[in-house]
Amino acid sequence: MSSLLRPADVVFEIDLAALQANFQTISALVGPGVRVAAVVKSDAYGLGLVEIARALIQVGCDLFFVANLDEALLLRSSHIGAAIAVFCDEFAKFGQYYRSMGLIPVVNNCIELHAINAARETQTYFLNVESGFSRLGLAFVDVRRTYLSGTFEQHPPSVVLSHLACSERAEDPINVLQRNRFRAVYDLLRPSRGSLAASAGVWLGKSYHFDIVRVGSALYGLNNAGIEPNPLQPVASLRAKILDVRNVARREAVGYGATFRTIRTSRVAIAAIGYKHGLPWTCANKISVRFGGYSAPLIGRISMEYATIDLTDVPAALCGPGSFVELLGKDFKVDDLAAAAGVNPQEVLTRLGAGCARQYLTSSSPSAAQANAGERHEPLALE
Ligand SMILES: *Cc1c(COP(=O)(O)O)cnc(C)c1O
Repeated sequence: MSSLLRPADVVFEIDLAALQANFQTISALVGPGVRVAAVVKSDAYGLGLVEIARALIQVGCDLFFVANLDEALLLRSSHIGAAIAVFCDEFAKFGQYYRSMGLIPVVNNCIELHAINAARETQTYFLNVESGFSRLGLAFVDVRRTYLSGTFEQHPPSVVLSHLACSERAEDPINVLQRNRFRAVYDLLRPSRGSLAASAGVWLGKSYHFDIVRVGSALYGLNNAGIEPNPLQPVASLRAKILDVRNVARREAVGYGATFRTIRTSRVAIAAIGYKHGLPWTCANKISVRFGGYSAPLIGRISMEYATIDLTDVPAALCGPGSFVELLGKDFKVDDLAAAAGVNPQEVLTRLGAGCARQYLTSSSPSAAQANAGERHEPLALE
């Protein structure tokens, strides 16, 4: 983390113009009839809830999904005027906050539905229905029973939503099954809007889009569905400072467990980044980092505060102590790091965001980004 005394040794940089470009790419893909809602849960996947929301509002985003009430209150108290929906928190207990702060609960079960209907005031709500994911959401039997009781007619949900289990694999038949089940509920309840697809679902085609797509990963540059050519811009980059450079003789061990042994006399850099910053331990001996146009392998285990790099083939002028090495950027992205480490890219992003000092790169021409803000949709009615 940075301190008052000096700049950070690890820089996790977030390119807000790339984020905005990804929002526009997805908006163009789904077309003008479909709203793109931003999923900013978990501190916007580690990239910073308020900063990310502000940048997306500039390009016309008017609906945000957060994980819980705490995130919703933080967003609202940062003067974010857009609609904010809470994926899961106790509406029955905290209804007063939802009402006073103008927040929208996602109703996930019959207890919450009961609380919604008991609320005297008219409370806008979204309804999550289970379609084959077995996480949160009303089971179909409960949807049907509630429908037959007339409750939905008296107090209809503004949005009915469900979540896909396998949208990263376009050919998986579970996608069709979930879409058909969701379609059945949508046709039964006739809500003003439906929402099924998250990022990867955007690429499954029109029949998955309904009225709102809920996009997280793709905004942050993750290509979950492996679309080629990748239309998304990388949003996160990562640099770390070189603390020291040492010469290591041939056949010496580097790091814990001696998992790397030099095969020649080597120059080895100690970089100020470790797993506490969110660099996956399992990427040891598997990735390369960059100095200018040069690439250099990460060797030996990742330790808590440090990682070691074989600099032997990089000109000494580029990589002395105090210089910065690039771990993530345009050439090597979060997706690549996650694949090399055998972990989930969203996990890498949230951990890096939590473990590093964040810096924001803003658009050089914000007016261009603002030009087509908020023109395509009627504001989300709060009834
Ligand atoms: C996290 C989440 C999303 C966003 O998923 P991405 O694949 O990151 O776009 C959408 N809907 C629900 C219910 C989620 O939990």
